[in-house]
Amino acid sequence: MNPNECSFCGRKRSEVQILIAGQSGYICESCIEQAHSIVKESVDNTESSTATRLQDLKKPKEIKTFLDQYVIGQEQAKKQLSIAVYNHYKRLLHSEQKNREVEIEKSNIIMVGETGTGKTLLAKTIAKELDVPFCIVDATILTEAGYVGEDIESILSRLLMVADFDVAKAEKGIVFIDEIDKIARKSDNASITRDVSGEGVQQGLLKLLEGSIVNVPPQGGRKHPDQKYIQINTQNILFIAGGAFDGIKDIIERRLNRQAIGFSAEKLSKEREDEYVLSQMTAIDLRRFGLIPELLGRFPILTNLDKLTKETMIRIMKEPKSSIVSQYVELFKMDGITLEFTDGAIERIVEETMEKGLGARGLRGTTEKVLEDYMFAIGEQAVIKLTKANVFKEKTLRKKA
Ligand code: ADP
Repeated sequence: MNPNECSFCGRKRSEVQILIAGQSGYICESCIEQAHSIVKESVDNTESSTATRLQDLKKPKEIKTFLDQYVIGQEQAKKQLSIAVYNHYKRLLHSEQKNREVEIEKSNIIMVGETGTGKTLLAKTIAKELDVPFCIVDATILTEAGYVGEDIESILSRLLMVADFDVAKAEKGIVFIDEIDKIARKSDNASITRDVSGEGVQQGLLKLLEGSIVNVPPQGGRKHPDQKYIQINTQNILFIAGGAFDGIKDIIERRLNRQAIGFSAEKLSKEREDEYVLSQMTAIDLRRFGLIPELLGRFPILTNLDKLTKETMIRIMKEPKSSIVSQYVELFKMDGITLEFTDGAIERIVEETMEKGLGARGLRGTTEKVLEDYMFAIGEQAVIKLTKANVFKEKTLRKKA
């Protein structure tokens, strides 16, 4: 082989920047680049075609194992979600088959649970695992077309944006609709008078959930400046809705007949009783809460998230991938400082957070506050050990001083 030219394109050493030697030849930088793009293209192609094979779909147990790394507790919700997601993508494959006789319906999901119990986290983690576009929309900002607020189609604009304007990708994405309980019709819900705007938004959502072709304004879409609308088929988009549904327990209890529960649950603690009642939730209860039957019909899967106990919150501090504790330890390590949280300190942080009623969402804030002074004075102490005794005491002392 001529050591002075590229064995692929024949360019001379003087014409190229680099010639890399192999066992029996040389290659220049532009041939490497070209080869790389050929490889990439063929890998991309196989990836998209393998994703459409049943045996390549992650099985529910595998999905749950992945969720376990990020979401602590919520076993029932993780299980239901894993099954629903698996079935959803199986359904996608099924819909691509020709001559099929049975139509499998979509498994959109409603998650009921107090704020900060992991609803958004679950939906986000599922999307991460599946590597599909994911967006979160707050139902409270949606209004019927023509009113102040965002049109319902804006949900799809966001999904499209996340999918980098790849329509085919967006059409397989996941949309998380947060605060779905806030658009409940109020008339069925005890005292308050009829609220048409909530119901109007629910009606509007039907169109998306039903699986139709929707004209979406490509907001901020620089790639399509001259195109007014992009058409998106929502048939294969998975919708996951979440809400706290304050007061749902009373509704379930009323349906179940309180006495009967009281009798059977005599020996249960308050916590277990709450859990039991919530586990009995059905679409009837959500309907009483104010979701319209048509909408509920589009969300066949209901799951409820458990209230976070102190033990779960402690685990959330320590166990997930990139847990709060490991993040701060890492942050201090960058300055060569050893930060240590004893179990006692973590317990105190959890107790303090639980008083705020923000669920696990408050944990970061509390920890940040605890570490504020240490972060400000970074470099002054090589080892910081947070214990039950000093985790909050430090602060009070400083305040007094
Ligand atoms: P919501 O139920 O209100 O949607 P989020 O999922 O947004 O709550 O939770 C807020 C934050 O609290 C999450 O980003 C996560 O850090 C933490 N968190 C909540 N629940 C859990 C959980 N079960 N496991 C691990 N982290 C959790």
